[in-house]
Parts: sequence; structure tokens; C-alpha cells
Amino acid sequence: MDNNRLELVRYSFEKKALPVEIPEEKTSEYYGELVFDRPKMRKYLPANVYAAFLDCVDNGKPLDRATADEVAKGMKNWALDHHVTHITHWFQPLTEGTAEKHDVMIGYDGNGGIIEEFDGSALVQQEPDASSFPNGGIRATFEARGYTAWDPTSPVFIQDDTLCIPSVFVSYTGEALDYKTPLKKSLNAVSEAALPICRLFDPKVKKVNSFLGWEQEFFLVDEDLYATRPDLMITGRTLMGHMSSKSQQLGDHYFGAIPSRVAAFMRDVEIAAHKLGIPLKTRHNEVAPNQFEMAPIFGEANLSNDQNQIVMNLMNNLARKHGFVALMHEKPFDGVNGSGKHCNWSLGTDTGTPLLAPGKDARGNLQFLIFFVNTLAAVQEHNSLLKASIASATNAPRLGANEAPPAIVSAFLGKTMTDVLRRLLELPSDTTVEIAGKKGRGVGLVEIPEIFVDNTDRNRTSPFAFIGNRFEFRALGSSANCARSLTVINAAVADQLRTYYGQLKSAIDSGKELNVAVMDTLKPIIRSIIDVVCFDGNGYSADWVEEAAKRGLDVEKRVPEMIAAYNSPRAVEMLGRTGVFSQKELEARCEVMWETYCKKVQIESRVMVRMAVNHIVPAAIEYKTRLLKDLALHKEVFGNLDGCEPETWMVNQISELIEKVRTLAEKMRLARKEANVIGNIYDRARAYNRIADDIPVLRRPIDRLEELVDNSLWPLPKYRELLFIS
Ligand code: ADP
Ligand code: MG
Repeated sequence: MDNNRLELVRYSFEKKALPVEIPEEKTSEYYGELVFDRPKMRKYLPANVYAAFLDCVDNGKPLDRATADEVAKGMKNWALDHHVTHITHWFQPLTEGTAEKHDVMIGYDGNGGIIEEFDGSALVQQEPDASSFPNGGIRATFEARGYTAWDPTSPVFIQDDTLCIPSVFVSYTGEALDYKTPLKKSLNAVSEAALPICRLFDPKVKKVNSFLGWEQEFFLVDEDLYATRPDLMITGRTLMGHMSSKSQQLGDHYFGAIPSRVAAFMRDVEIAAHKLGIPLKTRHNEVAPNQFEMAPIFGEANLSNDQNQIVMNLMNNLARKHGFVALMHEKPFDGVNGSGKHCNWSLGTDTGTPLLAPGKDARGNLQFLIFFVNTLAAVQEHNSLLKASIASATNAPRLGANEAPPAIVSAFLGKTMTDVLRRLLELPSDTTVEIAGKKGRGVGLVEIPEIFVDNTDRNRTSPFAFIGNRFEFRALGSSANCARSLTVINAAVADQLRTYYGQLKSAIDSGKELNVAVMDTLKPIIRSIIDVVCFDGNGYSADWVEEAAKRGLDVEKRVPEMIAAYNSPRAVEMLGRTGVFSQKELEARCEVMWETYCKKVQIESRVMVRMAVNHIVPAAIEYKTRLLKDLALHKEVFGNLDGCEPETWMVNQISELIEKVRTLAEKMRLARKEANVIGNIYDRARAYNRIADDIPVLRRPIDRLEELVDNSLWPLPKYRELLFIS
């Protein structure tokens, strides 16, 4: 057998960090140079066009075609100044990652020549073939038209030689075929629903923004080692591999010194991101070996989500430059932490008031409590849907293992806020809610400490944790589009706020003071959530699953069943009421998710079976043959097998394990054959779910063989090599 694994390991280990080209200017000087942001618009657009554009972005006013033409002209001039030759609509179909189709900015000049051309129509709309993207049957191939349409609220940017125009992607009949469209609808819904409430506190508020601060976790693996692992290359994760003796148990990787090759890669990512106006701020080693995280300063949700997609692309490209492959898979390695993408989410007014942070005074605190309590109520009511928003084949093995939140969506408030809510229930409704350190008039004072962010205790096991000025949703996977969860959170909160405003308004109309009306209406909600969705205990304990089920929380662990929540009457009604998804869109989305689930598991299972047959069994047989030759030689020399128990034991062990691998692999192949002919996509997904459950079963004898077979014969880079070379 030709096996050069050990040479390769040595070669990978000896790689040195690449030098990084650090710009001479300060970060603030090159920050945003590749985005067509407001200062550049002011320079490249006529004043009236700039004003019309701002009116569109800030106040939602439509942009007419003549103005779009003028905007395109300004963009073109700016792009040409940067030697850009191509344009593309840049969008987020229901696949992983983004999509683009480049066109050179040229047209005929009418005299047989060519000129640089880019006008309003090319800016506003393009037409890719929608049938080639996942669409859940919305697009029959015979009328495959779909449109991408410019999203003016996210600035265009330059990548290499191409001007990228952030866009939505919809079908000919108007249904969303992407992640951005429903996200934008949910942002409008939450703004509209929050507005009348905010205006009770400040009549000047015109808009409520939703904010996102994502934390992107990922692994880096040396590209030469990666290239010899079909499982990593094809599925993004290892499907086999015995845990190395040392993994993350010493806790020495988290926040450790960043390895120099990795630091060079991260610096490159930061520089590229900063040029694109992406405020990357934090970089650090994560808990598992070779696991890292990068995070920006939070921003408006739609923009911040686009930026996350750009950063994922940057990471993928720049990792290769540094001889790595970046793994965004949620569970690339069994037995160590998986990678999530924490979504820090909050709301705030256009006048600058954060709505999920304690206020400056009693009134501010009242407003904070409204948003805080109603968010929790929304998370409780749409518990299953929130979980559906993170359900995927790749995220499933991560949930509930090694520091990842369990597959139950509960909320962690921390001691301070739990106490505040409990005390509010006991006190009269005219109690003043004060910030610690400031004097209030009421007798029964409920105090919220001023420096709140640092006060909240940490609970890593909670999927939805309050962090003092925001909630951190931790269940989303590292490869996912944040819009999946943000759409659900914003829509659910919008729906809840709308109901709540109705209740509050009646209380005010009945003559109650604002603070009394708020407390009277919040108390029943607090009572209904405090012992249901709110949970500060250990989310990993077996008791919690039982307890959560008793509380009426969704404890479903199987991905196809989790996805079905999108199609439940509760979800269909809420998402319809808020205008975020039509029923047709939801049915299509379920179909796409089930389909993707089946395909992913199918691919994993195929790769695994082929590796078992082509890599593992041959290596095991080679070692067994060697042992048998030893035994034969022994017999020849000594005439018997006395004292050969270790070798015979080994031969028997290996034979048994090979037989196990063979039968389990064959069973898996047959299960796939059966699953593939199931017509109903939901049923097929459930059949594939059972195959997914068998992947770790087939893995066991393979990993056991890795322990037994001579190291020099093992064909695949081992965990200790993949996880400790960087
Ligand atoms: P940790 O890992 O300790 O949770 P990080 O610093 O890695 O924290 O990431 C926290 C993220 O939360 C950052 O992106 C930060 O900008 C974001 N964030 C902070 N305040 C808010 C807020 N009010 N709304 C949304 N995101 C926020
Ligand atoms: Mg972090």
C-alpha cells in the first residue's frame, strides 16, 4: 500500500506563517474603502439623487427608475476608479453561502465600439435561472424565471474585479427564494409593532432597528492533510477518527496564544473585512484545538448578516492562501466542541435608545421591561419554530454536546432579572422600577443594577441567554445563515408586541397611568413565562429534558420533525399575520429543508461506506496479513504457535471488526436504497434520519480498528494530526 501519511504530517508541521501585507495607513484610514458608503455617495451622486436615495434607505420611500439610473452612474464611476470591470447581483439562495453571476460592464456604443456600461436597470434587477436553486417546487422548470432585485439598504461593495450588489431573490410570482427577503420583512414587522409602544415613551421615534452581533466559530485544518480525507473534503466533517489522547480537557486552547500561521490568516481576514466596511473586532482561540472565533461590532441586522456572509467567503478564500482549509461545519470532530454562530440580538430606536437594556430612569426601565418580557413570551410561544430555524443535518450532531446548547429552547435570565421579575409579581403595579444607585419614590422599589452587562452570570448551556443589553441566541450553527433565526425571532417578537400593545392600549384607555397600565398588563405575561421558558439550571442534565417536556417546551431532537414546525398552524398563522411568509412559501421552505437534509445524510453515508471499503478495510487486512505471516513464520520455525496468543488475539479482533464494518456498511447501503424510493419528502427525510443515527454506529468499529492497526499503515490523518498542526 502506498501510504505517505507520516511524511505529509511532517511536511504540514514544518510550514511557517506567511508574511502579511499590513497597510501603512491606520485602520480608520482604509476602513470601508471598498464599499459605496454614504461619504462616497455624497461625492459621486448629485445632491438631489443622494437625498432621494437616503429617503429610500432611511424612510422606505420607493426609488424611481430615473433616480436608479443616476445612482448606477455614480456607482459605475466609483467602480471604474477602482479598476472594476464586472458587476454581479450578490444574493443568498437557500443553499449554503452566497450566489453571484458576473457580467462585464460593457455595451455597444452605437458606432461599432464598446463602452463601459452599467445603468439603472442592471442595478435594480437581474434574472438568474431560479429552477437551478433550491426552491421547494415553487418554480416549475418550464417557467423557471426568478429575479434578483437590488437591496438599497445594504451598500454595494467591491470584491476583486467585481462590483457586488446585495440583492433579494424572488420567484416570478413574488415568493421569496432566499434568506434576505423574509429577514427584511421581519425587520419591518418588528419595527412597525414596536413603534406605537416606543412612541408612548418618546413621540419622536420613527423607526425601530433590530441589531445583530454574530460570533463566527470555525476550525482550521492544514490543507494538505485535509486533501487526504475524503470525508472532510466532501462533507466538511470527519466521519471517522479516534479521539486523540489529548483534546480539549486541559482547557489550554481557549484564549491561548494564537498560533502564528493562524494569526497571519486572521490578520488578512481582518484587513480585507475592514476595507469592506465590516467592523471585525474580536479574534481568539476557541475551546477545541484548532478552533477559533472572529466577531464584529454589532450592527443593523440585515447589513450585519450580509457582512457575516462576506466574512465566511473571505475566510474560505484566505484560508487557502495560508495553506489551511476553514471548516464552518458545526461538528467537524467528534468528542470536542462543535462550532456555533452565536447571534447577539437586540432592538433599539432610531433615536438611539436601546430597548433591551435597562433605561436611564424609571420610565426607561418600564420600556425595557416591556421589550424584555414580551421577547421571552415570544420565545415561549414560538419555541418549536425557533428550533426549526436552527435545524439542519450538520447542526444536529452538535446540539447538546460539548458546550453546545441542548435541543430545547429555553431562556436564561440570570439571577438579577429573575429576581426583578419575581419581585414585580409581588409588588403593587405602581412600584417604581429604579436603577441601583438612583433614588425612586415608591415604597416597594425594584432595582435594576446600573452596570448590567458585566453583572449577568454566564450560562453556556442556555440557547437564549440575556446578556444585560441583548439576548444571545446560541443554537444557530456556524455554517448557517443568521437570517434563518433572526427572521423567526423578529417575527415572533413583532407578533407578540402587537398583541401586547392592544392590551396596553385598553388599559391606558380605561384611565390607568402608563406605569400602572404597563405593570398590570405585564404581570400576567410574567406569570405565564417565569416557570416555563425561563430556566437558569443546567441545560445538559437528563432531568431537564423531562422537566422541559412537562413545562410544555418542545423537546424534539429529530431534524425532520423539528423542520415540520415551519408548517404548523401556529407558525403559519403568526408568519402570515406579520407578513413574513405566506403558507406557500413555508411549504416550499419545509420541502427545501427536508430535501437538503436527505441529500446531506445521503452524501455522508455514501462517503462513509466508500471510505470503510476503500480505506479502512484494506489497511486492516494488510495489518492482519502481516500478523498472519508472522504466525506462519513462527510455526515454520518452532513447529507450533505456543506463545503467539497476542498475535492470534489481534488477528481475531481485527477479523471481527472488519466483519462488523462490512455488515454495517452493507446495512447502510440497503437502507439508503430503501429511503431513496420513498416519494413523500417528509417520510424520506425521516428514513434518512434513521440512517443518520447509524453513522456513529458504523463509526465505532472503524475507530476501534484505528486503535489496533499499525500506525504506519493507517491511511487517514488522525485526530491528533488534524487538530494539533497549525
Ligand atoms: P462573548 O463571546 O463574550 O459572548 P463577543 O465579544 O465574542 O462576546 O461577542 C459579543 C457580540 O455581541 C459582539 O458582536 C458585540 O458587538 C455584540 N453586541 C454587543 N452589544 C450588543 C447589542 N446591544 N445588540 C446586539 N449585539 C450586541
Ligand atoms: Mg465570543
